[in-house]
Amino acid sequence: MTAITNHMPTADLQALDAAHHMHPFTHGNELEQKGVRVITRAKGVTLTDSEGNDILDAMGGLWCVNIGYGREELAQAAARQMRELPFYNTFFQTTHVPVIALSAKLAELAPGDLNQVFYAGSGSEANDTNIRMVRTYWAQMGQPERNVIISRKNAYHGSSVGSGSLGGMSGMHAQGGLPIPDIHHIDQPYWYGEGGDSDPEEFGLARARLLEEKIEELGAHRVAAFIAEPIQGAGGVIIPPASYWPEIQRICDKYGILLIADEVICGFGRTGSWFGSQTLNIRPDIMTIAKGLSSGYAPIGGSIVSDKIAKVMNDCEFNHGYTYSGHPVSCAVALENLRILEEEKIVERVAEETGPYLQEKWQSLADHPLVGEAQIVGMMGSLALTPHKESRAKFAADAGTAGYICRERCFANNLVMRHVGDRMIISPPLVITKEEIDTLAERAWASLDQAAAKLEEDGLMKAAS
Ligand SMILES: *Cc1c(COP(=O)(O)O)cnc(C)c1O
Repeated sequence: MTAITNHMPTADLQALDAAHHMHPFTHGNELEQKGVRVITRAKGVTLTDSEGNDILDAMGGLWCVNIGYGREELAQAAARQMRELPFYNTFFQTTHVPVIALSAKLAELAPGDLNQVFYAGSGSEANDTNIRMVRTYWAQMGQPERNVIISRKNAYHGSSVGSGSLGGMSGMHAQGGLPIPDIHHIDQPYWYGEGGDSDPEEFGLARARLLEEKIEELGAHRVAAFIAEPIQGAGGVIIPPASYWPEIQRICDKYGILLIADEVICGFGRTGSWFGSQTLNIRPDIMTIAKGLSSGYAPIGGSIVSDKIAKVMNDCEFNHGYTYSGHPVSCAVALENLRILEEEKIVERVAEETGPYLQEKWQSLADHPLVGEAQIVGMMGSLALTPHKESRAKFAADAGTAGYICRERCFANNLVMRHVGDRMIISPPLVITKEEIDTLAERAWASLDQAAAKLEEDGLMKAAS
């Protein structure tokens, strides 16, 4: 077989991809028809594709490339570690230096008494760990009947059987027999889409109190934990009303229910603090981490666990672990990533300088006739598309039709912006400069203009009745 390289014609690469590669969350035949986009290299916030287009990646890969692409230091860290110790496990009473160093660093960065880390290869695996961990914790505490985990509709916690069950994506639950037993979902704090005429803060309180109602309905003695993203990411960058989290915290405290903050997106500077829990004033018992932990340069995830839980868990053998729990190369890469985030004051810059600048530019997109709302915290933002601003109406067309049209215009304008239904979302590398933010906003506005024109042309600028 001849080598498959960046220099092959795009059409040949596309044909091979269609023949042999099954993509996640993708309709294979539709993709083959359209022709997959081939990304060949990247630097900073810019991707290059096989046709030589330079594309501004406002999604940071998949919410993860926090320090931007092309940092030589991470490549060096990986190469150094591969030469010295490419792999060793952490199962059988052994450890290694990268996993020790990363754990100590994470304990230092994490808030409160979150001081111990259980590693996984991804966010999904880490949330599977969390399911077993909280149930085992309560069994150890003599309350084995406390095995229910409450989550939220339209949450995203991963794609494995366990984490996909924690998630509240109806499309995922429709395939493959999810959810597993004893996972319950309450409604999300999505005021724009579900709040109707209510006051946003009243709505936030009401949605938080659904947790209390669910606990009362099931019996507090049955509930192990509540899991949530501080800000929902894949659900559409849904920023809850300010009233929501304090009420959730109060309810978890009142019933002694463990709180799992899924920080896979919010962690490592995304919201302008090291963790979303700090931005939103949450006191979790466990934080799920992945993505920005290594800026995506190597796969790694984990659960940062409070002293209270660690004390109980360390009093038994937890029959759980992954071959790559604490993989030395991933740990070395993550450490180097954290060093750069810290030494270059990237999180502070998001909080004080580039975040506020992006916020201003992003919110100006709300002036566009197609945009009903522009929300942003730190460097995760969303636009709600609407045919009628004043009423926040949905489109008469199937949900996602307008979002898809807009995303296609973005791509054509060399901007990666995703859509979730009819919400457009961004999560750019945290190192994005003011100049690049200007470019992002200009391309987004132009794409919205073109999307609006296309929707008019197709007769889709109609509100659902
Ligand atoms: C992406 C994501 C996950 C899953 O992480 P993977 O590394 O894709 O398994 C879990 N939780 C949240 C909030 C995520 O955004």
